[in-house]
Amino acid sequence: MSTPETPSSSNFIRTIISEDLQTGKRDQVITRFPPEPNGYLHIGHAKSICLNFGLAEEYAGRCHLRFDDTNPTKEEDEYVEAIKEDVTWLGFDWGQHLYFASDYFPQLYAWAVQLIKAGKAYVDSQSAEEMRANRGTLTEAGKDSPYRNRSVEENLDLFEKMKNGEFADGSHILRAKIDMTSPNMNLRDPAMYRILHAHHHRTGDAWCIYPMYDFAHGQEDSIEGVTHSICTLEFEDHRPLYDWFIKELEIFAPQQIEFARLNLSYTVMSKRKLLQLVTENHVSGWDDPRMPTVSGMRRRGYPAAAIRSFCERIGVGRSASWIDLSVLEDCVREELNGTAFRRQAVLNPLKVTITNYDQVEMLDAPNHPQQPELGSRVLPMSNQLWIDRDDFMENPPSPKKYFRLGPEREVRLRNSYIIKCDEFIKDENGEIVELKCSADLDTLGKNPEGRKVKGIIHWVSAPHAVKLPVRIYDRLFNQENPDKAQDYLSALNPESLQETFALVEPSLLEGKPGETFQFERVGYFTVDAKDSTEGKPVFNRTVTLRDTWAKVK
Ligand code: ATP
Ligand code: MG
Repeated sequence: MSTPETPSSSNFIRTIISEDLQTGKRDQVITRFPPEPNGYLHIGHAKSICLNFGLAEEYAGRCHLRFDDTNPTKEEDEYVEAIKEDVTWLGFDWGQHLYFASDYFPQLYAWAVQLIKAGKAYVDSQSAEEMRANRGTLTEAGKDSPYRNRSVEENLDLFEKMKNGEFADGSHILRAKIDMTSPNMNLRDPAMYRILHAHHHRTGDAWCIYPMYDFAHGQEDSIEGVTHSICTLEFEDHRPLYDWFIKELEIFAPQQIEFARLNLSYTVMSKRKLLQLVTENHVSGWDDPRMPTVSGMRRRGYPAAAIRSFCERIGVGRSASWIDLSVLEDCVREELNGTAFRRQAVLNPLKVTITNYDQVEMLDAPNHPQQPELGSRVLPMSNQLWIDRDDFMENPPSPKKYFRLGPEREVRLRNSYIIKCDEFIKDENGEIVELKCSADLDTLGKNPEGRKVKGIIHWVSAPHAVKLPVRIYDRLFNQENPDKAQDYLSALNPESLQETFALVEPSLLEGKPGETFQFERVGYFTVDAKDSTEGKPVFNRTVTLRDTWAKVK
């Protein structure tokens, strides 16, 4: 597992852009984020979004949001809306510059005709198998199609008939006439247009031929005047083709720059697989809090700022690298540590009675220990408490290093008194069911001379506690690289979701959808934005307080 790239290597794209501005090759910076609306955005897309919008901001340029909707069969408006919401939530703004590849269909068609007229494109009528066979291999040249030398007139006529719906899907295809012997397979007369009698989410039934991604992408960038077209490494071999189209059409030439895509451990990022997780109900939807999607992470309670700082931290390089999921989780902790209000909640309760305290007090407890300006809340205290079962041990294995409750041991109750355990009660099975403790009533909110107590534990007042549903989320996959498993579904972590309850202090009833709290000593928890109802928040565990995976699994 590699560590995040150093800041110096994160800058190679900045270096190129700065040079282009200095030499006068460009006088402004226009980038774009070009999702295909066939799924929800994931953390890999977030990297691309932060990079493209971030560079535009840095160089006072602009970044376009362009939907690359050239494939009608898999694309939907639902995805368009979700993508817009996610980009906005991540903190970026495309302003006026929202575009759709489908708006360029007439222009792309005109350009295809132009290339036919120039003798640079032809209609091929081979079957798919013939075409595949004649394409050759990496070590063997391809063979010219018998239709390669059709006349311009015949090609124009056939292409128009393709457009007019006179042919069945797959019967003809428009190809660029480049070189069937090129060592770069992408240049062996690549397909430009295919026949597809399919309904498009925006153009409806206006077209029954659709441009191939490779014929569309570079020209879309050109139309928009994109100066730096940033994409992932697998498009490096397509660059000569994009450049060829641009040159033959004599249009504005964007510069393509490739970077390594983000790979994250314990995660899959192919949209096909994410879709399968959704449709086969392995998760509750694209925004299931375990999904690596932007909407899933938002629902889980990851702050947008944490995702941005993650993208900054991992940098941008040219060599494929894996980032450990713990790097992302650390960014989430760091962000939440500074912002999340502290609250008390007990997930695994053990009853405590304070024998020398017979009142109810409304204590004033700070929302954040280091930031008094964040205010405080009322925390009820009584003589019946719940503490966490793990905070009592009858016989701690290393007594000198044990600072929680035990027989005759003292701890401070967070925001309250120091108590001592005088007695513990077991049931008939030998399980501890209750502690009887006495409080040092002189120790509220202060620690007088000579009263040094190392342990602090969290608690809630039993008569005031509210029982609320809590979902303990964990990593969706329990293998570092799920794609390596024979079937990635077999790498699903069966314990990625545990539904339980917590006994919480009453102020948590006011938690708003999407609001995140630190349950002290337990973890960060976010009010679920979908399943919570007024006065009944459902909590999602956002992240633990520490990385437990490094040791446990
Ligand atoms: P898939 O191959 O699963 O369909 P995709 O990468 O083709 O996904 P697009 O919607 O085309 O999905 O992606 C939009 C942009 O996001 C592209 O510019 C792509 O390079 C970038 N992107 C996608 N995945 C990653 C990733 N893992 N790391 C960085 N950038 C990514
Ligand atoms: Mg793509």
